[in-house]
Amino acid sequence: MNIGFIGLGNMGTGMALNLLRHCQESGDTLIVFDINETALTDVVAKGAVNGQSTARLCGQCEVLFTSLPSAKEVNLLAFGDDGILANLKEGATWFETSTNELSEWQKVKNEAPSHLTLVDAPVSGGAEGALAGTLAIFLGIDENVLTKFESLLGVFAARVVRMGPSGAGYVTKLVQLHLNYLVAQGIGETLMLGAKANLDLSVLHSVLMSSCARSYVVESYIPKVLDGSYDTSFALGLAEKDMRLITELGQYLEVSMPLGDKVYNTYQQAKNAYGYDAPHLSVVRLMEEQHDQLLRS
Ligand code: NAD
Repeated sequence: MNIGFIGLGNMGTGMALNLLRHCQESGDTLIVFDINETALTDVVAKGAVNGQSTARLCGQCEVLFTSLPSAKEVNLLAFGDDGILANLKEGATWFETSTNELSEWQKVKNEAPSHLTLVDAPVSGGAEGALAGTLAIFLGIDENVLTKFESLLGVFAARVVRMGPSGAGYVTKLVQLHLNYLVAQGIGETLMLGAKANLDLSVLHSVLMSSCARSYVVESYIPKVLDGSYDTSFALGLAEKDMRLITELGQYLEVSMPLGDKVYNTYQQAKNAYGYDAPHLSVVRLMEEQHDQLLRS
């Protein structure tokens, strides 16, 4: 079987390398593509086949994975004569793992020929999880399609969860992110209280880790504030995009989210101040600048 992977960024590279290892054991072939030459060359150097273009890659693949920044890129690749929908092999299945917009995905699905199967399959667990093969993947998928592909998805995901029919995967991802961003912004206030009271922030972190406040965000984000890196594995612009999608979901479902609104507003401010490519925890820098206090070990 030929497996295609388009989008070899922070997440895509890790997922693709795990699929490559699987292919090297099973005799399947991994064909990859990215417009970033460096990212593409790195994965090809490890043994994947260079797909050359979206159209050429799609023409050879029974299964396709995409990991792209946003709906804009997904749609750009989906449509047109050189796009995914026009070129994927007869009967192929496309797992779209980006954090994407339901309404935009619906447009792609509406245009898809009936011989293709499209699955919303966003992931959680960060770039580290993608490399380690420990992601969670949330699927909007029919049972029979999941049965066919469950073991393949297990190559890079420790949790493969069917959330319901098409669309349920994307909604789950946004709901999960909502809580994630609320807590991520909360750690800034918590650390600032500690810093202003002259607590040792490393010790405070270890206390939080053994308290009821413990979470993945507390465990892995706080050290990346304390070391001043703000976590380069995820861009601030993507975090701001996520908060926009969460806000739109709330409006669509008529759920008022005062906490979410506040957090979205702060991510917008941070993106305006530091730019799209800044690390996502730069959102805490706003607070550091406002209080003239760095949050460091
Ligand atoms: P990234 O920007 O690092 O990677 C995106 C890749 O897509 C880049 O390598 C880029 O060159 C490539 N690309 C863009 N346009 C292309 C095109 N037209 N043709 C081919 N390749 C193209 O982003 P990422 O952090 O890997 O995130 C990917 C997706 O996963 C996003 O939707 C993000 O919201 C989501 N996500 C990210 C994380 C994380 O921690 N980084 C976690 C969960 C989900």
